[in-house]
Amino acid sequence: MPSVFIKTYGCQMNERDSEAVAAQLVAKGYSLAASEAAADVVLLNTCSVRDFAEQKAINKMRNLLGTARSEKRDQIVGFMGCMAQSRGRELIDRLPDVDLVLGTQKFHRAAEYLDELLAGKRRQIVDIAAEAKSEAAIREHLLNGSAKTSVSAFVSIMQGCNQHCTFCIVPATRGAERSRTIPDIVAECRELVARGVKEITLLGQIVTSYGRREKSDAWQVSAGTNLTGELPTVPRQPSLTPFVQLLEAVHEIEGLERIRFTSPHPKGYGDDLVDAYARLPKLCECAHLPLQSGSDRMLKLMHRGYTREKFAGIIRKLRAARPGIGITTDIIVGFPGETEEDFEQTLSLCRAVEFDNAYIFKYSERRDTPAATMPDQVSVPVREERNQRLLELVNTLAARKYDAFIGRQVQILVEGPSRKNAARFTGRTRCNKIVLFDGGERHRGQLMDVRIERTGSFTLYGDPAVVNLSSP
Ligand code: SAM
Repeated sequence: MPSVFIKTYGCQMNERDSEAVAAQLVAKGYSLAASEAAADVVLLNTCSVRDFAEQKAINKMRNLLGTARSEKRDQIVGFMGCMAQSRGRELIDRLPDVDLVLGTQKFHRAAEYLDELLAGKRRQIVDIAAEAKSEAAIREHLLNGSAKTSVSAFVSIMQGCNQHCTFCIVPATRGAERSRTIPDIVAECRELVARGVKEITLLGQIVTSYGRREKSDAWQVSAGTNLTGELPTVPRQPSLTPFVQLLEAVHEIEGLERIRFTSPHPKGYGDDLVDAYARLPKLCECAHLPLQSGSDRMLKLMHRGYTREKFAGIIRKLRAARPGIGITTDIIVGFPGETEEDFEQTLSLCRAVEFDNAYIFKYSERRDTPAATMPDQVSVPVREERNQRLLELVNTLAARKYDAFIGRQVQILVEGPSRKNAARFTGRTRCNKIVLFDGGERHRGQLMDVRIERTGSFTLYGDPAVVNLSSP
């Protein structure tokens, strides 16, 4: 049977989509190749959020095609995911030897299309059409029941976004919001827990809007069974948003230890979600709130739907509900029209809020988005300079947060050997900080306490022995 190699660009949603496609192909008898050179099929799962990510994937494909041609290799190559969706046939016009272009609502068709291409039944396939219920098709996982079983898994709960931020291409790449049913999601989570998973991260482009567009009660209990064939029935509670109802349903799963979610929208942190942090112990004390800008003028131009005061208020409430909660954010610098004064508002809000970490993005024009044609585009050197200044501030504030952990005992879930240094093992605190310690295979999958001894860049170094010695 043929072998496949999938290279993923972009976010955790893309990682999850790649995993689901790989699992689907493995179930059909494909093997996973160790490298692209050794593969019969190479798929690039692409990202469109910034131009840089698109150019990287296009250059990669050009190199793949060049190598395959010079080595006279008969390799099937394809684009899938966000850029495949937004550019479609245009990719074939630029790179005519590409065999497959698979959109974001077509991941579940990968095996069928690759079979046709490998058998020579079709020479080239482009499919980016919308498909009803495709949001429920990202379901299969690569867990294999061996010692390599993951302790942490991602579960896709919804697709698309209706927020239409003026800078963002996501509505064009992922479509309108569509959510899976609670029973279907709970069944997938139960299967994962039965296979050894202890931590689940619920995924979507705007998870806090989960289920908002699916109104009927029938949606709550339609399709989807769990391993025992029972349908967990979750009565609709008008006072709770569907997302909080979903958190409650997942929280009930026996054996599941930790729940996280990403990516939310600040507007979605209503009182019921803040309250969920206070009353659902499995919901980890970490929250990602994409700020984008600290200037109300910019927030309005971005179509974000909140002010800096409202944003700071949500953080105050979250910290009151769960003291010690880890808070991270996304910020865009150099959005059209951003003045030095606007940028300083972002710096001042960062100083006031003290994020644990911030992902900083230089604004990137995305075609067909309103911001791309706004006046007063900020020059590239100014975007670069603001990026550096903000990075320095974020790193200084984060280092202080990390240093505060020295001497403290924290619970970690051990994921496996560190990628950079196999002699060390890596785990994650409940507030989502990476901890490295001298561990072994026996620690994998364990929830254990470590004492933090020192810090590095966005890393804590722990000592499990010290805790064991001091235990009664
Ligand atoms: N749910 C998130 C939100 O509330 O905005 C969106 C997640 S988006 C896939 C990840 C991040 O990419 C955004 O939060 C934003 O900071 C960044 N981003 C999106 N479009 C961008 C653009 N045109 N230029 C630079 N950064 C962008």
